[in-house]
Amino acid sequence: MTNKLKYFIGNWKMFGDFGSFNIIHKINQFGYKSRKLNKKKIVLCVPNTLIHFFKKKLRLKHISLGAQNCHPHKSYGPFTGSVNALMLKKAGAEYIILGHSENRLEGETNQIIKKKIISALDKKLNVIFCVGETHKEKIKGRTFSILRKQIRSTLEKKFNINKIILAYEPVWSIGTNRIPKINELINTIKFIKNEFKKTLKIKKIPKILYGGSVNPKNIRLFSSIRDIDGFLIGGASQSSKKFIDIIKNYYK
Ligand code: PEP
Repeated sequence: MTNKLKYFIGNWKMFGDFGSFNIIHKINQFGYKSRKLNKKKIVLCVPNTLIHFFKKKLRLKHISLGAQNCHPHKSYGPFTGSVNALMLKKAGAEYIILGHSENRLEGETNQIIKKKIISALDKKLNVIFCVGETHKEKIKGRTFSILRKQIRSTLEKKFNINKIILAYEPVWSIGTNRIPKINELINTIKFIKNEFKKTLKIKKIPKILYGGSVNPKNIRLFSSIRDIDGFLIGGASQSSKKFIDIIKNYYK
């Protein structure tokens, strides 16, 4: 098994309340107990209402907290109902998911995502930048052209690559229990890494996660793919047992 750093990042979406600290606590304890076994980074991206509360309650921190979206405006402003990267950073977020397909489906464009990334990087948040094709785009053979567009129209040479983690999340795989064929996934990951390197004109290999219906049963299928730096886990991250089992099974 590889000793390369692997990310296990949970996306709680619009789930969770103050009582969900229980889940965070158990995952944090697991992080503590297993800290010497493998090189891993555990991040939980929770609703904005919970970031500060969880951050305060955690004593020794073996996990990091993240947010799931932000307003593109860099500072305070008249944007009713919105929260910016600065506020999230102050609340205790270290990471932020941007470009998630659930927000793209609500009308978030590549241009808006770009502004959000600029704003998040400005506040020194680590950005988890999601890309992925829909089922319709996949069957039309447009996967690579869609991914290229998402990357090229969002990222720029001046961005700090050390603060960006890519996440390949095929839209048709999110919450559906369907995952890509392993060979297809290997090729797509390679394609995304190359596009990223070309767009940012860098030689350094970017970090990339896979996300979409990852669970304790299918995680072993992914462990043979060396080029994957970790996983973005939605539904299964709302259960401490499932999330911990995913990590345990990955290293089995
Ligand atoms: C997600 O929403 O980022 C995700 C990967 O969801 P799920 O694991 O539930 O498919």
